[in-house]
Amino acid sequence: MKASRIERSHSIPPSHAEEGNERAAQVRGGPDWVRIRTDFPLLARSVHGKPLVYLDSANTSQKPHQVIEAVDRFYREHNANVSRAVHQLGSESTALYEGARNKLASFLNVHRNELVLTSGTTQAINLVAYSYALPKLKSGEAILVTTMEHHANIVPWQLVCERIGTQLKVAPITESGELIVEKFVEALTGEVKLACVTHVSNVLGTVNPVRELARECRRRGIPILIDGSQAAPHLPLDIASIGCDFYCITGHKMCGPTGTGALWAKREHLQAMPPCFGGGEMIREVKFSGTTFADPPHKFEAGTPNIAGFAGLGAAVDYLQDIGMTNIAARERELLDYATQALQQVPGLRLIGTAPDKAAVISFLIDGVHAHDLATLLDQEGIALRSGHHCAHPLMQFYGVPATARASLAFWNTTEEIDVLVAAIARVRKLLA
Ligand code: PLP
Repeated sequence: MKASRIERSHSIPPSHAEEGNERAAQVRGGPDWVRIRTDFPLLARSVHGKPLVYLDSANTSQKPHQVIEAVDRFYREHNANVSRAVHQLGSESTALYEGARNKLASFLNVHRNELVLTSGTTQAINLVAYSYALPKLKSGEAILVTTMEHHANIVPWQLVCERIGTQLKVAPITESGELIVEKFVEALTGEVKLACVTHVSNVLGTVNPVRELARECRRRGIPILIDGSQAAPHLPLDIASIGCDFYCITGHKMCGPTGTGALWAKREHLQAMPPCFGGGEMIREVKFSGTTFADPPHKFEAGTPNIAGFAGLGAAVDYLQDIGMTNIAARERELLDYATQALQQVPGLRLIGTAPDKAAVISFLIDGVHAHDLATLLDQEGIALRSGHHCAHPLMQFYGVPATARASLAFWNTTEEIDVLVAAIARVRKLLA
């Protein structure tokens, strides 16, 4: 891990036991989590006079100073458009933008030319919907999704289905929030021409067995898209070994700026897919009689991209890789186990999503307390967690609830923050239940 250039006092000091554990881990060669927390300037602020406890990383992650400084440096020192200028600033800007593509490609273990830079997962999935599914699928065919998808992995397919008379099929989950793999496989019938599955659920935390699902799809010649929004920030990823056709990620959940993300797709798909948006940057030659397009991935990147954002995302990838995704996954597993145990002690608290293979996302309900009231009162205590449908209406319908509260953790969180959450929930429950 590179030395932090900004050392700040953090608002919630780690407990002695935790500090002891951290030091022990450091002696064993693990990351220094106490110091890593100080990389995030925003975590030092207070909210309503209380130290901020940020438990909404599944919504968007906080940013380390390395990322903030990379964006700042871009505008102060390099700002120019990409690919268009031969001057020095244009070259530097292009190097930063294309450098981010290289870093992401190595982070995900894919080839850089198979990585289309997008504004996030929503744009990445829509790109597949309009450039792959719309021209290829026919009336009577089907797209398979699962009950636990985010709206971003449902609505684009519904729009495509409406346009071409395609059917949307849904693979079911269990009450504990696990995909029923046999049912998913059963649903892979002849008319299914695309399967779309989240890698990690943003509500349940469930980690889906994507390698197995991709293998079953491959056996039947059905392409599969994986929504990796909640996986890329938390798990070591090797897209090449998953064996999928499309993989989507979003930068703002992985310590990067908002408005950044990527679509990885197999080269054969990118070659065959027509562009979705037309304009500058994506062409080879334009004549009024017709236009020829640049090779992928540039064919799909019309117009001026979020260059500063990608300079920041490049820094975010460096940052995560310096800590190590295996270390991050292990740290977050410890925090998840601690939080799950602690929350289970709260009377009247029901966990939504108890799959054995889970990322550090905990949705829950409290008897007699509406999730919005809970989140509003916790906010008064400086605790930021999300309440609502989490852009997953069908999943809420499955559980028969309008909303859940959701605490989502990241490697910079501490067990002491979890204690603060649990104590505050107990107080709110006494007040409202
Ligand atoms: N898919 C999942 C599982 C998500 O959690 C999110 C964001 O919450 C998205 C898709 C949408 O991603 P973006 O914010 O990049 O549009």
